[in-house]
Amino acid sequence: MKSSKKAIWFRTISPLIFLVIFIQGSAQLRTPLEESQFTELTQHGPMMDYLQELSSKNKEISIEIIGKSVQGREIPVLFITGSSRFGSQRAEKPVVMVFCQQHGNEPSGKEAALIVARDLVKEKSYILKNIDLILIPMVNPDGGEVLQRRNANNMDLNRNHVLLSEPEVQALHKVYKKWMPEVTLDIHEYNSISRRWIEKGMVKDADEMLGGATNLNVDSELIAFSRNVLMPQIGTFIKEKGFRYSRYIVGGPPSEHTRVRHSTTNINDGRQSFGIYNNLSFIIIEGKRFPDPRQNIEYRTRGQITALLSFLETMSQNHREIIEFVGEAQKELLLENIGAEHLSYIQMDYFPDSLNPTFRFPVFDLYRWKHTEVDLERYEPLVKIKRSVTKPVAYLFSSGEKELIDLLERHEIEMFSLKKDSQLNVELYRIRHITDGLDEEKAKKEVDVYKWTENRLIEAGSILVLLNQNASNLIPLLLEPQSSYGIVAERSMLQYCFDEYLEEGREYPILRLSEPISMELVARRKIFTEMSNAR
Ligand SMILES: [Zn+2]
Repeated sequence: MKSSKKAIWFRTISPLIFLVIFIQGSAQLRTPLEESQFTELTQHGPMMDYLQELSSKNKEISIEIIGKSVQGREIPVLFITGSSRFGSQRAEKPVVMVFCQQHGNEPSGKEAALIVARDLVKEKSYILKNIDLILIPMVNPDGGEVLQRRNANNMDLNRNHVLLSEPEVQALHKVYKKWMPEVTLDIHEYNSISRRWIEKGMVKDADEMLGGATNLNVDSELIAFSRNVLMPQIGTFIKEKGFRYSRYIVGGPPSEHTRVRHSTTNINDGRQSFGIYNNLSFIIIEGKRFPDPRQNIEYRTRGQITALLSFLETMSQNHREIIEFVGEAQKELLLENIGAEHLSYIQMDYFPDSLNPTFRFPVFDLYRWKHTEVDLERYEPLVKIKRSVTKPVAYLFSSGEKELIDLLERHEIEMFSLKKDSQLNVELYRIRHITDGLDEEKAKKEVDVYKWTENRLIEAGSILVLLNQNASNLIPLLLEPQSSYGIVAERSMLQYCFDEYLEEGREYPILRLSEPISMELVARRKIFTEMSNAR
């Protein structure tokens, strides 16, 4: 009697015990920040342990090391999918790539990413029905360890996407080129405490800011879809959760005569450098970063979790349109877009819009001690073209330009060699004058050129870069001498690179081929470091 009672008791209770153990077991995995009750930021080593455990416990998540930082720290990537294999349903499911902490002193994006990765395979798994996710929580581990903006070479990684000189940025671009994600998101934080704003009696108060591509070479329908459909939806989700949201702006405070604009059109940052491939690229900037990056970390991380989930949910809901629009825009890049109507916009700037003279922005009023909003003047929302060139069929240069070849290889831009000496009609530039100018309030070189056409003998072995490839929008921006975004405009550590290309009176070493002709070409070895396939 007694034993059978015990048996019944055991039979009823044991599944419950297992259930409790199971729930506790799966709830046990907490990020280092959660473990510390939101008092300690996640350092690189504990992050790696957490990610290894997360991927070993969840079949949806695989981890790969995509490169190493200057000081040799591993840069991990998570591939997260609800399908049997990552990227296996590409016709229906866009690939979304999210990367965090390019700036080492902006840790909340990484903290949010670590939590979101876990929650996506649990209570948020419905999001994975329609998208596959590449998640890179810590692009700059060396900067992250010591909470400094730059990497160990003292380089700003988010200004290195043209030169690609830093191993951390190279790793990021390798992942991008391998998967060509339809959507990318670069997560940052902004400094909300600034003396100029405090002098006006306020601090910036947006918890989350979101921006999209603004460079006019990006497909205009993609920009419109991003700005009119996706961004408002993400903003609504963020506001519904109680966080203060704004479109990403720089400039202000009110009644100071600085321009208020939607950041830069430059392609050397993590947003625009991928947008130029006609994908949908975004940046999230979170507010309330204080001089000490640890301050208020729980609130900031919760804001980032909300923004990231709102973002992913919006992408998931719009997955069909994303596949369609990005697919169309990327197909365009592969066509031979020859003719006077195919332009590359090599200089542009922000201008006022008489219909929208001011921009309403959330602030915290220090006199009245409350959240409010102000209208920022000198709002310049319109990007207009200042200079354009017709796209050539190809660019040509000598095989002796080793530094240039290296740079194009880092971008995985396809190059060919001329098989024989060829007599070709080419367009050439001579540098006339170089003067000092300003671009988006920063120093730049104003380049004046003389352009002519000539029939010239081009030596066998010369390098030819055709424009009908997926870097089609990028190539003229890099190579044109008057481009604001080019190799000759780009500075690293305040040094202009390719400086010798701009000597006054000198012939610019990169030539243009403006008509298609048949010639024998040899494909150059494609530099591509193969990564082990994600599960
Ligand atoms: Zn940043």
